[in-house]
Amino acid sequence: MPFTPLIGHLALRARLSEQIHRGTLASSILFTGPAGIGKQRLALWLAQHLLCEEASAPCGACQHCRYATEGTHPDVVWVFPRPNLKDSDSAPEDVAADYAEAIADRVAAGGVYERPDGSAGIFRYVTRLLVQHASRTPALGRRKVIVVGEAERMVPQAANQEAANAFLKLLEEPLPNTSLLLTSSEPGALLPTIRSRVIAMRVRPLPSAEMREFLALPAAAPLLKTGSVDELVALARGAPGALLDAESRAAAVARAGAILDAATRSQDRMYRVAYAQGASGARGGFSDALDALTELLHARSRDAADAGDGSGAAASARAMMLVENAKRDAERNATPQLVAFRLLTGLAETLA
Ligand SMILES: [Zn+2]
Repeated sequence: MPFTPLIGHLALRARLSEQIHRGTLASSILFTGPAGIGKQRLALWLAQHLLCEEASAPCGACQHCRYATEGTHPDVVWVFPRPNLKDSDSAPEDVAADYAEAIADRVAAGGVYERPDGSAGIFRYVTRLLVQHASRTPALGRRKVIVVGEAERMVPQAANQEAANAFLKLLEEPLPNTSLLLTSSEPGALLPTIRSRVIAMRVRPLPSAEMREFLALPAAAPLLKTGSVDELVALARGAPGALLDAESRAAAVARAGAILDAATRSQDRMYRVAYAQGASGARGGFSDALDALTELLHARSRDAADAGDGSGAAASARAMMLVENAKRDAERNATPQLVAFRLLTGLAETLA
């Protein structure tokens, strides 16, 4: 069974096709944008495009396309956060087998899957595997593509500097037949050494019409048991993946509550909460927390208005604008801690 077809992102896809056509596509690309909007699916589409025998767009019919959409192309390596294998020097075969299984699960689910939990990471034995893969000649085609999902969860490589340096070198001067495609919903939490070596491209949430198109796919059928199409479109905010993340949603709401709580208390608490946000390797989801914060403030504003408290309602509405600014900053590579601190300071003034 192949992946679900890629829905939406038409303008970006056209731009990428054009760059392939002209030979100007960067070899190290970082796709950024909110969690769950399909950045890894887009990167896999680009991998398929780069390998397909047809130059203008992935044909969907050649051997490369078939293998790529089944997640089994030998020249496409796709990694993402996984639970730590017990032995940190895990043999490459074990690591490859672990990913083969995880990818098969994602493909079996039609490419609609939950985010890995907070303890999962991209550990150093994975980096080593990527470096090894990059040094090999392509098995089937002319080139190789490496896709690293949620790249901000690449664990800092203190104990194995060699693999880390080799990976950075790869990003900086990839072999002519190798493309590296990274994705992140929190580019500010990426290791700076990685961030400075990639070309970033923004991926946008799906508009409602495309969310409906997504919900009409067979793979989305289980989601429709949890709500009507209209409800799901409203809940997803353009991110199909958000519909699967009930658990991470709860975590995001808790985190948003902690931010709001800290803003209305002491400065000391504000510092602590700010520094807890999105350090490299920490549980992801700062942007999710900001989305949840918007909802909390919205509810607060509505409750205040219902209770006849006009100034309270206005203060919460102003606070929502601060959160929107923070979201923009977070997407523009700012460090989560700094964004959080600026936001907390603003919220403290606004809600005091
Ligand atoms: Zn093809």
